[in-house]
Amino acid sequence: MTSCDLLVIARWMLPIAPENCAFDNYALAITDGEIVDLGVAEEVQARVSPSETLSLTDHIVLPGLINAHGHAAMTLPRGAGEDQSLQAWLSDTIWPLEAKHVNADFVRLGTEVALAEMIASGTTTFSDMYFFPEDCADLVATVGMRAQVCFPVIEMSNVWSDGVVDGLHKGLALYDHYRHHERIDIAFGPHSAYTVSAANLEKVAMYSNEIDAQVQIHMHENAEEVHEAQALHGHTWIQALDEIGLLGPNLQTVHMTHVSDEDLATIASSRTSVIHCPVSNLKLASGYAHVDKYIEANVQVGLGTDGAASNNTLDLFHEAHTASLIAKHENRDPTAGNARDTLRMATLGGAQALGLERKVGSLEIGKQADFIAIDTNSLNLMPHYDPFAALVHGNAGRNVSHSYVRGEALLADRSHTSIDISALTEKVRQWQITAV
Ligand SMILES: [Zn+2]
Repeated sequence: MTSCDLLVIARWMLPIAPENCAFDNYALAITDGEIVDLGVAEEVQARVSPSETLSLTDHIVLPGLINAHGHAAMTLPRGAGEDQSLQAWLSDTIWPLEAKHVNADFVRLGTEVALAEMIASGTTTFSDMYFFPEDCADLVATVGMRAQVCFPVIEMSNVWSDGVVDGLHKGLALYDHYRHHERIDIAFGPHSAYTVSAANLEKVAMYSNEIDAQVQIHMHENAEEVHEAQALHGHTWIQALDEIGLLGPNLQTVHMTHVSDEDLATIASSRTSVIHCPVSNLKLASGYAHVDKYIEANVQVGLGTDGAASNNTLDLFHEAHTASLIAKHENRDPTAGNARDTLRMATLGGAQALGLERKVGSLEIGKQADFIAIDTNSLNLMPHYDPFAALVHGNAGRNVSHSYVRGEALLADRSHTSIDISALTEKVRQWQITAV
């Protein structure tokens, strides 16, 4: 028998790879944060001698979800400026609110709320793009989640940086600091092609190529953005990024609600990823990414909630449910956006889009032990016939009982292990009293 740190025995296990499989009475063994054995529970039990065993008798175990795009600190403006157009929402509500309130304390508080909410609803890895990325990364390191932290690249002087050169300088220092961290990757986060100049996007392309780092950018969020680029510059932003040399496997384009056949071919051939944020797109009436087209063209597609200010939840199961519904609606076909493909997008698809597929996204020997458990002993999931459908359509985010990253529990029996929820709730209450 081989010794291991933790043995997890699950009533059902959905490892995501191999595809579309739901195994009964399955187990995984973990040592040093890594999955070292996986298989039929009885057989794994005969092979390993665990220091600790977690028996999940009514649960579905699957890889932790990957929220591939968001602005974590924006939990604090959650619900501010509802029912506005994207441009009005940004210029009349969000940007003035940020100008008034955003500082390192705001980011720490808003981000901690986001981490608590994501852990409780099954997300173990997320991507962030916001001011004071040092504070976000520091919190992630302390709380135990996994993240891609994108530092902002913004033209104008702002609360965090004195423009692009200073932002790149601070961001690269942060990259160096977390270079060998097991759970944190630092990436470039230019807001969009319409807010960052071509010359500065070229700098991002040059630096990111040099250090082989990921870049995440908002792209083709709505039709106006695409039309304006055509009218002002005579090309789409995808064509512009292609010329600049920013497209490629290290680029993650968020939204991509409108795409021509030519741009789709360019994205596919350059192996650029797409992040689908359907709820935020629907709320802002931006249209939405036609995911089937991207997947057919072999583009890696991840799923993201975007910031809580435009969603308003960070529950990725809710996002998956919406993604499935709009795929059915879009195709006028109830077999489209099936639960298996949708759950794959929320896990392995996200990992591939963020370049993390060698570490996470599926439960396989050699990968990191990032997993979650859903307690099916709840009326909203009873009775159940198909675990994939139960997860995508059954409002399962509220039935997450356990969340583990690298074999460490961040949520155990629905209790947070690394965040003091009552203290955090009180801090948010106080923030609202003094700030709003
Ligand atoms: Zn966003």
